[in-house]
Amino acid sequence: SQLVKTVKTQEGDLTILKGINLDVKRGQSVAILGPSGSGKSTLLGLLAALDTPSSGEIWLDGEPLSGLNEEQKAALRKQKVSFIFQSFMLVDTLSELENVMLPAELAGIKDARDKAKRMLERVGLGHRLAHYPKQLSGGEQQRVAIARAFICDPQVLFADEPTGNLDKHNADKVADMLFALNQESATTLILVTHDLHLAQRCERQLLMDDGQLFEQRADSSSQVIGER
Ligand code: ATP
Ligand code: MG
Repeated sequence: SQLVKTVKTQEGDLTILKGINLDVKRGQSVAILGPSGSGKSTLLGLLAALDTPSSGEIWLDGEPLSGLNEEQKAALRKQKVSFIFQSFMLVDTLSELENVMLPAELAGIKDARDKAKRMLERVGLGHRLAHYPKQLSGGEQQRVAIARAFICDPQVLFADEPTGNLDKHNADKVADMLFALNQESATTLILVTHDLHLAQRCERQLLMDDGQLFEQRADSSSQVIGER
């Protein structure tokens, strides 16, 4: 409710998010668009419990995040939420299979290896298990990141410009995977993108502008969701 994020800078306090009120239903897919520097990544970081708001509360699955200690937040990041980045963020020294297995092993999931293999087959990379990230194309690396993100069956997947580094063909392929898994496992999808085509495939389109969030309506008007 009414999320505000203010940070201290050399020039004084900077309010990045100015009162955001967003309610996302389970399984929904939501795109967040908006200019560079408007606060999109900051909002994702708060929602994913990677960062804390200056004021306001975030609820996940009926639970307020402010009530969790660091250990509980870490457990939540391991079990309930997942993150995909524009720059893939794979571990260079681990093979494709090991990258995908890692979060499952950390979460103590049995049969992590078999599950990782199945996920990689799902994203069309079952024939490359021993390859290292450097031996894969950008689109392939992002599909490994998707397999890794879904291996613990997250309730919510946050993706910050997941197709930002990909050509159109690979961007479409990565988006196809995201939406297939979103449909199949009812994972809520919240993604930041500059790609209008990708945004249009989501059920909702939100526009971030200077720390405020607007809901895009089908008639292309917009409505503020938060307070001035
Ligand atoms: P882009 O599309 O370029 O990724 P964005 O919408 O994701 O932009 P944010 O990364 O959320 O933008 O940043 C929003 C604003 O807040 C920027 O002006 C940024 O410089 C500023 N900002 C973010 N984090 C900090 C911080 N820790 N200290 C100071 N300023 C910050
Ligand atoms: Mg950003």
